[in-house]
Amino acid sequence: MFENVKRNFGFGCMRLPMVDGEVDLAQVNRMVDTFIEAGFNYFDTAHGYIEGKSEKAVKACLTSRYSRDRYILANKLSDWFFKTEEEVLPLFEQQLEICGVEYFDFYLFHALNRNSYQKHKNCNTFEIVNRLKAEGKVKHIALSFHDTADILDMILTEQPQVEVVQLQINYLDYDDPAVQSKKCYDVAAKHGKKVIVMEPVKGGALVNLPPEAEKEFAALGDAAPVSYALRYAASYPEVFMVLSGMGNMEMMESNIKTMHPFVPLNEQELAATDKAREIIRQYNQIPCTKCRYCAEVCPKNVPIADLFAVYNEYALARTTKKETAEKLASFEVKASDCISCGKCEGICPQSIKIREKLQNLAKM
Ligand code: SF4
Ligand code: SF4
Repeated sequence: MFENVKRNFGFGCMRLPMVDGEVDLAQVNRMVDTFIEAGFNYFDTAHGYIEGKSEKAVKACLTSRYSRDRYILANKLSDWFFKTEEEVLPLFEQQLEICGVEYFDFYLFHALNRNSYQKHKNCNTFEIVNRLKAEGKVKHIALSFHDTADILDMILTEQPQVEVVQLQINYLDYDDPAVQSKKCYDVAAKHGKKVIVMEPVKGGALVNLPPEAEKEFAALGDAAPVSYALRYAASYPEVFMVLSGMGNMEMMESNIKTMHPFVPLNEQELAATDKAREIIRQYNQIPCTKCRYCAEVCPKNVPIADLFAVYNEYALARTTKKETAEKLASFEVKASDCISCGKCEGICPQSIKIREKLQNLAKM
């Protein structure tokens, strides 16, 4: 269907390696070269990733160094970057310019849910993107989605021109009532859409597992738990692409090994993911994927994802309560600085009750 896409694994440019607050371009250059030399060619960015630095890194490390036929580039229309219909086209043109390309292979309506979908409709973005496709500036129309399956069904019924759906699919969220991985996948398949997977390792939560969950995979062989998570996501028949936001060369090399040659999970391996899911759930972590969308809107610059990461180490029994309290208190901006405006909750794709969680952390 997408004949230029090579292999089923894509470089998500959301968590690039950083040095002193800037993208480590030298390392990203090496990662891009390694990725392309290994026969992969799909790259995914968005205007807000790493506070705008992802798109710039894509230009510096990819589009200015490789001819246009060597890579597939996906970008996104994020509703928090426009207020009116008039602002949509200038935003798109700006994205093309920053990325240094004349078209995007895939352009996604970003993080759609019931609320943002209404905003897109009000701002006529579906019509605008249809026109961009007719002009050749967008090759394929897609959407990424964070809401319940019935909403996805409604959107795909109303917008049949959408060719591809990007979903959060991982073995932990398979039957999660908020994420609804499997139900959303079934809806996409029912509409005949191909699927791109995001968050196959749930922001890193499926990389370092609790010891009992790790044992389930260790019993199968030497491969790391993360490799099962990636293969799990890629094993769904309608999935043609799995994205991973790789933060360093080591991760990239390990993931390349996992995904080429790609072998779907067998029954025994699938059973291990079922067992691991049950074990991980007992730890009650905050389901933050460190996407940092909330950082874009928080007026107090509360480091929400970092505070939650500290708490999750405690939830996994890797730190004591005292150590956790000390770490939480060491942040310059603390959980107690939250003014409960709720803006973060309006944008969080994981529907986390951020204010409530921060209040609990502040008490700690
Ligand atoms: S509710 Fe708190 S953490 Fe969320 S955006 Fe407002 S101030 Fe920031
Ligand atoms: S709290 Fe939500 S929006 Fe913020 S980083 Fe975590 S998952 Fe992303």
